Amino acid sequence: MPHEIITDLHHIQRTTVAHEADNLAFRTFVTLEVPLSDRPLNALVQETTAAVWQHIDCRECANCCRVRQPVFSRAEATRIAAYLGLTLEDIRTRYLQSDADMGKYITRTLPCPFLDGALCSIYEVRPAVCAQYPHLHRNFRSRLPQVLDNAETCPIVYNVVERLKRTLGFVDSAPTGENPGVTPPA
Ligand code: SF4
Ligand code: SF4
Repeated sequence: MPHEIITDLHHIQRTTVAHEADNLAFRTFVTLEVPLSDRPLNALVQETTAAVWQHIDCRECANCCRVRQPVFSRAEATRIAAYLGLTLEDIRTRYLQSDADMGKYITRTLPCPFLDGALCSIYEVRPAVCAQYPHLHRNFRSRLPQVLDNAETCPIVYNVVERLKRTLGFVDSAPTGENPGVTPPA
């Protein structure tokens, strides 16, 4: 079934690695050949994301919290400290380290120390980078390298990319035959 939703993380990782060349070709295709300007392309991505996301429950996945190190601004770290009844120094010592390149903080450990089971223990005050993940809501064309990187670990991104390949008429030459190529736009 060409439009089924894939959530198995091992399958997603294996397939994304196997499709690396095709994903690179898709990047070139989106950059040079898709006749949509950024605005309608972003609208199509948002529509596709909404269609995929309704079948995926992030509370049962939490893979991004296991494999990605979120970035915290000082203001965000201060807000989280207050939420936890701690000082900024407390949460720096326990959970965060400075990232000199970015002038911000990243977590000391993976999975994220604020992950409790499959839920975020600081959900109400989580940093913007988490609230906006998987970052499919804007600048799809210019962000495509990061999007394709995220496709390896995020079921939403993976399924959105695979659907877009079909919708946009990208002909995938991957040996698995999972992407048959052109399907009329929804
Ligand atoms: S955003 Fe992606 S990786 Fe994170 S919990 Fe949701 S489906 Fe999983
Ligand atoms: S702060 Fe919360 S949402 Fe962000 S990575 Fe950690 S557990 Fe996940």
